[in-house]
Amino acid sequence: MHDFTYKNSELYAEAVPVRKIAESVGTPLYVYSHNTFLRHFNAYRNAFDGQPHTICFALKANSNISILKLLAKNGCGADVVSGGELHLALKAGIPPEKIVYAGVGKTEQEIVQALRAGILMFNMESSDEMLAINEIAGRLKKKAPVALRVNPDIDPETHPYISTGLKESKFGIPIEEALEHYKLAGKLPHLEIRGIHKHIGSQITTIKPFVDSLQKVILLAKTLRSHGIAINYIDMGGGLGIPYNNEHPPHPSELSKAILPLLKGGNFNLILEPGRSIAGNAGIFVTRVLYLKKHLGSEPDQPEKMFVIIDGGMNDLIRPSLYNAYHNVLPVKQNNRRKVISDVVGPICESGDFLAKNRKLNTVSRGDLLAVMSAGAYGFTMSSNYNSRPRAAEVLVKGSKFYVVRERETYKDLIRGSKIPEFLK
Ligand SMILES: *Cc1c(COP(=O)(O)O)cnc(C)c1O
Repeated sequence: MHDFTYKNSELYAEAVPVRKIAESVGTPLYVYSHNTFLRHFNAYRNAFDGQPHTICFALKANSNISILKLLAKNGCGADVVSGGELHLALKAGIPPEKIVYAGVGKTEQEIVQALRAGILMFNMESSDEMLAINEIAGRLKKKAPVALRVNPDIDPETHPYISTGLKESKFGIPIEEALEHYKLAGKLPHLEIRGIHKHIGSQITTIKPFVDSLQKVILLAKTLRSHGIAINYIDMGGGLGIPYNNEHPPHPSELSKAILPLLKGGNFNLILEPGRSIAGNAGIFVTRVLYLKKHLGSEPDQPEKMFVIIDGGMNDLIRPSLYNAYHNVLPVKQNNRRKVISDVVGPICESGDFLAKNRKLNTVSRGDLLAVMSAGAYGFTMSSNYNSRPRAAEVLVKGSKFYVVRERETYKDLIRGSKIPEFLK
């Protein structure tokens, strides 16, 4: 559920017409709903009420500092995968004891940063990393709180690029090898074992992979405890899907109904790392139609195709190009004009630069606004300056007010940090 709805044929973000925001801020831009973010976060909070738990929002889905502050204010923690994300989480006021840190390639500098900050735990992904964290913690005269990311070899049945829990993936340690890794960790003097971590993938739309993988993890936890290894936290990762098109992913309350019985009596502190399911449908990407171009079908029975050329592209929202992801495209002002098969494409010089393909859209005109739905997660965070395009603005709507929470980049930003060597001057 989200707060982008039509009133009198006009798309609104909460109580603000999207057109009004676009006219004031320009396009392309991201628009987020305060209400939706909060509702999605509270859905998790309510679902796991009664079970000791921490919800650690995965920053890589959306790391706008105002969004993070909004979540922090409501008691949310953070799942970070880089020193930059750790910095942002702390800046937003997320307490370090609610921050977990995953990722296969943490640098020494990042490990030092996290140790100094006093995070809840490192989710370690290899024995090399384990040795490195131990060594660095020793040097800083600290004990590093750690969990091992295990790979439960469960197929989340999602896109291969966002599937992380299969054997062939680079993430985590195969669950069969976990015991020996934990034994090694137990011998390292500067580590304090706190739990087990797993994260099997993203945009998962059924309960079963969550249940199956959690069962394996709980079994491991019991084995570890029988070897005298203290497991207080089970971090079940993120990955719950959202409806982009016709998917019907489970609600957090259905997820909790399925997994809380498994945890019962285990005396575990549960950590959840949702990203997409909190942010995805809390944001849209708004863009303006620049030009229309009609291609007649090459065969007589082939329908004509319309290219709707917009001012937003794959540098702004790469998911369609990268994952062939589906995003619904809606007119900001509805009309009853003839429906045409359309490709919605950006201005980037790449054939892969499209936001939607073969959609039956009502005819649009130059200057019309389009809303690319479900763009709140992995939208802006994956954007780039490709084709030297300044990155889009971000706006947060709350009730009848809207706030620019990141200015559109300017040409100045395109050369920020660049240097010209003397011989080229
Ligand atoms: C990406 C990621 C998440 C968030 O995944 P979503 O599908 O956005 O919920 C959580 N944990 C880890 C370790 C991740 O890499």
